[in-house]
Amino acid sequence: MQIGDKSTIFMKEQFKKYYDKSAGSLNFPERLSEREIGYIPFQGSMTRHLSFGTPSELRTFLIREVPRSVHYSSGYYSAPTLPMAQKGWKGADLIFDIDTDDLHTPCQAEHSRWICTACSSIGVGKRPTQCSKCKQPRLKAIKWSCPKCLDSAKGDTVKLLDILCDDFGIPRNEIEVFFSGSRGYHVSVYSKKYESIDQMARSDIADYVSGKGFLLGALSLSSKRRYNDLLRSFPEANGEGWKGRIGNHIVNKLDLGAIEPMEQVISQISKTKTTTLRHLAEDALSLFSARIDPTVTSDVHRILRLQGTLHNETGMMKKKCVDLDTFDPTTDPVVIGDEPVKVIVDKSPPLSMMEKIFGPYSSETVEIPSFAAILLIGKGFAKVV
Ligand SMILES: [Zn+2]
Ligand SMILES: [Zn+2]
Repeated sequence: MQIGDKSTIFMKEQFKKYYDKSAGSLNFPERLSEREIGYIPFQGSMTRHLSFGTPSELRTFLIREVPRSVHYSSGYYSAPTLPMAQKGWKGADLIFDIDTDDLHTPCQAEHSRWICTACSSIGVGKRPTQCSKCKQPRLKAIKWSCPKCLDSAKGDTVKLLDILCDDFGIPRNEIEVFFSGSRGYHVSVYSKKYESIDQMARSDIADYVSGKGFLLGALSLSSKRRYNDLLRSFPEANGEGWKGRIGNHIVNKLDLGAIEPMEQVISQISKTKTTTLRHLAEDALSLFSARIDPTVTSDVHRILRLQGTLHNETGMMKKKCVDLDTFDPTTDPVVIGDEPVKVIVDKSPPLSMMEKIFGPYSSETVEIPSFAAILLIGKGFAKVV
């Protein structure tokens, strides 16, 4: 998108309307003055290492600047405006990112598109090595999430919350869940117990919630297992943690739930083939683990999109999910108005927003509500006519 073109001007106008109306009532994360703030303007590149003493200073900034995107640090610093090495790290929220990109949903084959950064042509399907039109190799995959992808991300977020609350004992009121504004969910834990842990410990937590590194030996399921070992290590009915989840899954799948006492159950398990037990254990790990991006969790200096601000590619808000079950990412974070606007759209997948479906469009001029136009412009499919 060229600076000063009609589409950029339209997008900025729409963002301005939103910030004029809503910035005054936005809430930000606790300890705002200790966090680094960065933003990308509509014209120019990213500015980092800013800090705002109070929420109202930041609200004023949003109204005055109308940024294309705004980010905050999960970390807290003594001097957030200094270069990284001199900031004085004091701690960080424990954060998790669940992105539809990492979920490999089968529908991605239907809606994957690419755009050539040299000639702007768009292609359907997986990104080839060169542009079919201008033969240049500078192609970018357009990231797209349909309602099925977003549902899948919500499912993983629910699993993550279960693990954080049940296995780590984190109180639910110390956890906030947000829709990221585009492709998934952010989970932030604000806890005295976890704020000062280092990168290694965060990386271990990321592995744990992803079900990585669980040794089947811990359940004595190896081929050399003995009845007594199994009796000692196999979890009680409804046991806790990964051991409990895997144990329950094995018991349920082998139909041993109604059998008592435990010795009988163990004797049945010890007679089951090792490969069957291994498959069941691996099943349980993939069924109940949360597919998070581990690099986000382990990074103690991460910057994330700021809650209440708009996503640069969708115009949707990063929104707190008060009730994740009923949260609808295709309507709840839509804050741009519905005034119709004429755009030319090419090769866009069907877009579900506000209980309507827009497209698929192929090289056509259409008049659609501003909220849908902004998303198609932001992703690179549309231009204002
Ligand atoms: Zn091209
Ligand atoms: Zn999808």
